Amino acid sequence: MSELRLNRATKEWIILATERAKRPHQFLVKSDREKLPRYDPHCPFCPGNEKQTPPQIYALKGNAAGSKKQGWRIRVVTNKYAALRPEKRTRGIQGEFFKSAPGLGQHEVIIETPRHDRTIATLPLKQVEDICTVYWRRYRALEKDRRFKLIIIFRNHGASAGTSLKHPHSQVIALPLVPTDVRHLLEEAMRYYDDHGCCVFCDILKQELAAGSRIILSNPAFVAFHPFASRAPFETWIMPRKHNAGFGDINRGEIKLLASALKKVLAGLHGKLGDPDYNLIIRTAPIKDAQEDYYHWYVQILPRLSIPAGFELGSGIYINTALPEKTARFMRE
Ligand SMILES: [Zn+2]
Ligand SMILES: [Zn+2]
Repeated sequence: MSELRLNRATKEWIILATERAKRPHQFLVKSDREKLPRYDPHCPFCPGNEKQTPPQIYALKGNAAGSKKQGWRIRVVTNKYAALRPEKRTRGIQGEFFKSAPGLGQHEVIIETPRHDRTIATLPLKQVEDICTVYWRRYRALEKDRRFKLIIIFRNHGASAGTSLKHPHSQVIALPLVPTDVRHLLEEAMRYYDDHGCCVFCDILKQELAAGSRIILSNPAFVAFHPFASRAPFETWIMPRKHNAGFGDINRGEIKLLASALKKVLAGLHGKLGDPDYNLIIRTAPIKDAQEDYYHWYVQILPRLSIPAGFELGSGIYINTALPEKTARFMRE
């Protein structure tokens, strides 16, 4: 028998196809990823090609970990093919029936290291701490802009996760509105809070810690686990123990512990599954809801080990062919 499981936070059901379930090691990807050079003269993100990117917004200067060259450790630039741009004046929403609005927003690229061939899984911890610090700095800078309502920080790793450039980078998009999916998540969280008097994510964390079987690792500030109702094999959440709806309130000590958890989780996937493609998203509350009691920020990592097909697109129900209890144990071993 397969099993349906409910995600308490979103009220989404997922199907655990236990009969066709694969053993964790069967998800090992045959990595046909080319071996990247340390430096690629044609890459716009490699040192020396700074002029090929749009103007720099922010940089961490200094000696990059693992490099003797003085220069930058991390650069932030506007995305050359920005989905949204910060317009000076906006018209707002127009149209009676066919509504539209100008593409106001900000789309940035965080070039995570001068090294072309590294990724969070293989970078020194110090550099991962720097990346997390820059995530936080960009978040804090963009949340001050009153035109923006939600900031999404994400990372696409590998072609099936949507990367076009191989040089390690993350992206930040500041949105002028709160999308339906996020609004739905907030409404469900609010409903849970009304019914139970506490944050659904705090409860998920408490229950996952009590169950223990899906926990990958933990430190004084964060817990990483494969959620009970995982959408996809090896889906991982890194959740702060402390209740906070917005990512912006993270402190220095917590940034270090986040970097440590992030590196361990991604190095684990890299080592055990052969560098699979994945998406990483920092799920944080809209700026105006960042102090609320009912929402809780976390990091979601979705390895691209299966491709959503017609059924998923038609029903919104995901079929997961791996048991999170087994994949978590595999990652802990
Ligand atoms: Zn490069
Ligand atoms: Zn909470």
